[in-house]
Amino acid sequence: MQNEKIDIKSMTPEELRQWLAEHGQAGFRAKQIFSWLSRGAGSFEEMSNIGLPLRELLESHFFISPPEIAGKQVSEDDGTVKYLWRLRDGNMVESVVMRYGYGNTACISTQAGCRMGCAFCASAGLGFIRNLAPSEMLDQIWYSQKDSGAQISNIVLMGIGEPLDNFDNVMRFLSLVNHPEGMNIGMRHISLSTCGLVEGIDKLADHDLQLTLSVSLHAPDDETRRKLMPVAAKYSVNALTDACVRYYNKTGRRISFEYAVIKGVNDSRKQARQLSELIKRTRGHVNLIPLNPVEGENRLEPGDAARFAAMLKAYGVNVTIRRRLGGDIDAACGQLRRKGAR
Ligand code: SAH
Repeated sequence: MQNEKIDIKSMTPEELRQWLAEHGQAGFRAKQIFSWLSRGAGSFEEMSNIGLPLRELLESHFFISPPEIAGKQVSEDDGTVKYLWRLRDGNMVESVVMRYGYGNTACISTQAGCRMGCAFCASAGLGFIRNLAPSEMLDQIWYSQKDSGAQISNIVLMGIGEPLDNFDNVMRFLSLVNHPEGMNIGMRHISLSTCGLVEGIDKLADHDLQLTLSVSLHAPDDETRRKLMPVAAKYSVNALTDACVRYYNKTGRRISFEYAVIKGVNDSRKQARQLSELIKRTRGHVNLIPLNPVEGENRLEPGDAARFAAMLKAYGVNVTIRRRLGGDIDAACGQLRRKGAR
């Protein structure tokens, strides 16, 4: 019987080079193989500049297993494409390709499911299944690029899952997607969004990457935040703010605080003032997200983002309102998978 095959797409070109050397093969093949994979090759057979004996050797040791497109929706409004992927083991995750003037952005998932349980999130209800491998994060980019024809220049880790809860695989994914022999996407073109895991933020600060860290804050006070986000019971707003200050001091990168405006919950003048104090301490900026109501889950209603933004501006806060793309195709976090799973 054959041993379990190795996930070649989670290997760095350096690791592959070493493997090839150990198997009596030329090192430059690693670059060719990595380049094929980055362009979305679905099998070793497709690698036409690699001789049959090496292709067979690779085939017997590694798997490629591209994800299958289990669902796809294209927005008629703005060309946003949403994919539902069926992974090698049958689990489903989502990603979204958004077209902006400055280039195309892929929003990808980092876990199948999520343990964080945020009250407003479509992914929370379905629970946590497993972490994604680095290759499964890359796949979402490679295969959506291949299918949509949209060259991806920016990445946001804002799909299903909590990236800092899958820390090591996310770090390896980042080094792969950033690799000069692969997609070579610069860290400044990547955003990582977290619900605010303090140890994870500190660990990320130690890596001193030039990516943009987004922190899903959603409330500036513990009482409100705990109602919305179970993670707030573990880390107070104050402890989270301290971690953000440490992060900024270490990396010099300003943090973006995500804030979904929810009617009567987090949109008061007092909360605008509290938020402005937090922003002054962290030197970050606020990105208001119009709440995407999740069917049947609870009674949270979208608040008036423009009104809340005006209050924040009056307190001197640097604030933007996220543009809504793909509103006609359930492009919000976890919504397609949720429908599929019903
Ligand atoms: N776990 C990470 C990343 C995934 S969620 C995090 O919490 O940041 C990506 C972003 O979408 C987060 O800011 C999250 O709070 C927000 N979000 C989730 N559901 C939403 C909804 N129904 N409406 C608006 N924003 C939502």
